Amino acid sequence: MEHKLWIDGKWEDTQGGKRMSVEDPTTGKLIAEVIDASSADVDRAVQAAKRAFYDGRWSRLTPAERSKALWKLADVIEANSEAIAKLESENTGKPYAFVSLGGDIPFAVDNLRFFAAAARDTHGSHAGEFAAGYTSIYRREPVGVVGQVAPWNYPFMMAVWKIGPALAAGCTIVLKPAPGTPLTTLMLADFVKEAGIPDGVVNIVTGGNDTGQAIVEHPDVRMVSLTGSVGTGKKIMKTAADTLKRVHLELGGKAPFIVFDDSDPELVAAKASLAATLNTGQDCTAATRLYVEKSKVKVMQEAVVEAVKNVKVGLPFEDGVQMGPLISGVQRERVSGFVERAKAAGAKILTGGGTPKGFESGYYFEPTVITNVQQDSEIVQNEVFGPVITVQAFDDEADALTKGNDVLYGLAASVFTRDIGRAMRLSAQLEFGTVWINDHLPLASETPHGGFKQSGFGKDLSAEAIGDYQITKHVMVAQS
Ligand code: NAD
Repeated sequence: MEHKLWIDGKWEDTQGGKRMSVEDPTTGKLIAEVIDASSADVDRAVQAAKRAFYDGRWSRLTPAERSKALWKLADVIEANSEAIAKLESENTGKPYAFVSLGGDIPFAVDNLRFFAAAARDTHGSHAGEFAAGYTSIYRREPVGVVGQVAPWNYPFMMAVWKIGPALAAGCTIVLKPAPGTPLTTLMLADFVKEAGIPDGVVNIVTGGNDTGQAIVEHPDVRMVSLTGSVGTGKKIMKTAADTLKRVHLELGGKAPFIVFDDSDPELVAAKASLAATLNTGQDCTAATRLYVEKSKVKVMQEAVVEAVKNVKVGLPFEDGVQMGPLISGVQRERVSGFVERAKAAGAKILTGGGTPKGFESGYYFEPTVITNVQQDSEIVQNEVFGPVITVQAFDDEADALTKGNDVLYGLAASVFTRDIGRAMRLSAQLEFGTVWINDHLPLASETPHGGFKQSGFGKDLSAEAIGDYQITKHVMVAQS
């Protein structure tokens, strides 16, 4: 299949861009070609978004009108769920069951319905007399044209997480999916049209990192929202400084999973194995560092290893499959490099560490549990973004907190304990954007998702996300 760029409500060819290939990660075979958009293409998309923003065809609709269109978009996506889920599984190798019913696509639909409702709750706007003889009005206005740059781990869901709050706020958009996973994001184009969202409001350009860079450099883009790695976040922030645009960064994570001795090993094993291997560990909130209270390390470790060994690896459309391949050959090499270097540094592989039997083609990697690792080692400190979890012991609550916080990341963490006081103390002191107690992973459209520290800033999901795409204007009226 060949694809074009979605600019101003039409499929457009590239001007000066190239083509790039899209693979099936279960085989490494080519499944599609898309455009690697040039800066001229990005400029056309930005100009379309700019016209759409300033003529008010979206930004000056009433909240009710925007809400209705977002609701319609959710309906259209829901009606096409099966086709989206199928293509998403083909492009990413994810188990179809995790994308379709109960998975990414229904969450995306729910997310748009949430933002359809939240679009109408314009809180924050208020008026009053704050200086004698004057009335002040605070207006919450859309930021303008926003550039949105998405990662490859949940391609469709990430695209929807991005466009929902920006559209609810009244912004217009240039959206770029990740180079390897653009296919379902391109499907969004027709859905946006069918939902009656005016032309030029959502523009989709496919391309690599240079295309992303061109979006960030563009002087007419007022804000850039990235979901991606810490390294890309830093580059974007530096580039955005030249035009002083607002940045919204959802970056990597290295979540601790802290287990006290009063926890149920069965619960810990079930939650840790799921949270470490879901989406082949390519999840920014994945459980990556298991810390267990000293007296229970052996029992918890055995339970987790057993559960991880039972994770069913397979092809996306096979029954009962829980884990597919990594996204690319590059990612497979990266994950395997981390594991090999950890081994060379003295780590012990409790299970996994290589290619699962029968999956030599494609980019599969076994669910892996590693111990004998040091707190300052590379495997504990850096995001692997694969199905790999390390196990370490801690002495007491203070030690658990110190080790849990001892990384540059701050996206998500979990604590397993029956002691409510301890759970509350730790949830207050862990420096992470989300802290789960006795669970790890669940999120809802209403709950803010975003980082502390080098996991970035700004929120996806929740009404807070709409605020990130708005700017406050103060209007002061002299009464005489
Ligand atoms: P990545 O940083 O390599 O790429 C993300 C996107 O940024 C891609 O579309 C890429 O083309 C673009 N990009 C790269 N360089 C750019 C530049 N200089 N200017 C503009 N755009 C540029 O990330 P990835 O490998 O696709 O995704 C994995 C990363 O995303 C992981 O670190 C993961 O933790 C993170 N992530 C975070 C969240 C979150 O909500 N915090 C969610 C999912 C993924």
